[in-house]
Amino acid sequence: MGTYPDLPSYVLESGEDLQDVVDKNADELIGKTTITKFNHTKIPYLPKVLSIAKALPLQLHPNKELASQLHSRDPDQFTDPNHKPEIALALSDFEAFCGFKPLKDIQRLMKLPPLQPFLPSVEKPDFDDQTLKHVVKAMLTASDEAIKKTNDALLQLPKEQFGADSYIPELIPRLSKQYDKTDNGTVVALITMNYLRLKKGDSIYIPADGIHAYLSGDIIECMARSNNVLNTGFCPRADRNSIDMFISCLTFTPHSPDECMLPPKTFEKSKNGKTQVYAPPLAEFSVLSTELGDGEEETVEAIGGPSIFIVTGGEGSLKADGKEHKLSEGYIFFVGQGVEMEFRATKGLQIYTAYVE
Ligand SMILES: [Zn+2]
Repeated sequence: MGTYPDLPSYVLESGEDLQDVVDKNADELIGKTTITKFNHTKIPYLPKVLSIAKALPLQLHPNKELASQLHSRDPDQFTDPNHKPEIALALSDFEAFCGFKPLKDIQRLMKLPPLQPFLPSVEKPDFDDQTLKHVVKAMLTASDEAIKKTNDALLQLPKEQFGADSYIPELIPRLSKQYDKTDNGTVVALITMNYLRLKKGDSIYIPADGIHAYLSGDIIECMARSNNVLNTGFCPRADRNSIDMFISCLTFTPHSPDECMLPPKTFEKSKNGKTQVYAPPLAEFSVLSTELGDGEEETVEAIGGPSIFIVTGGEGSLKADGKEHKLSEGYIFFVGQGVEMEFRATKGLQIYTAYVE
């Protein structure tokens, strides 16, 4: 949903490309503040709905500096010079690998005999982020055969040896069925990354250069206006980007399950308290969640920048700018800056709104 050129949105009534409409009325719809902030009249964010049945590639999105280098070198693959921090907001049960586990947890797992080959040959006194980088690189560059052998050997271990990470032997067969026992992503994700099981309404924040892989569930994903990605696992070898580049970009935040989480906060512009805000530490966007029971109402006061919302459940209406519109599951609206929104639910309503101001 939005104006990213790969798959732009069109206005339902006229069939016009949303960006053309926005460009013709930029001051009115985007607003001077947002235009000045980003120095363009494009919508600075890109919300998506993902329904994930099979692990998505193990990936990171390069920071601005690398993104602009890659874009000038290979514009077909890296379609813009922007960074792509993102949030993933669960609409259902949602499983994700996000960031790295705390070092002490990784160090403990790395004591398991099948994982010894991935450790540096000279043991360092501390298991620090440099050691972790070595381990991740060793896992990503290992041959198909070495990865298969590791997975088989891990499955032979008694379950107790995995301690609190007892999900590891359960997930190896599941991930191997989706890709293969030879996929390097399985070992990296299971041994070094946080495995999160989220519930509806939970949200995670992935900073630029943050490692992540989504495993299952329905989510709202919102990101800065970019589509650049480096993939290294949970995909065929031919689709993988350079491991050296991937490793050189890696950041070590988040570094625990708690650090991944982006809890919702009270939204000041909500008149009836039915709207919460997920606000990552970013200039490009925040996301609102509005949840109404049968017959309930909510007013969201005028926002100083453009919004895009999607109705994910229920029936009702929107009053905005003197007009009334029907709302139903799957309906998507672009709302210009400075417009107050009055929502009324006839049969419950669940609405997610991406905005900037
Ligand atoms: Zn991503």
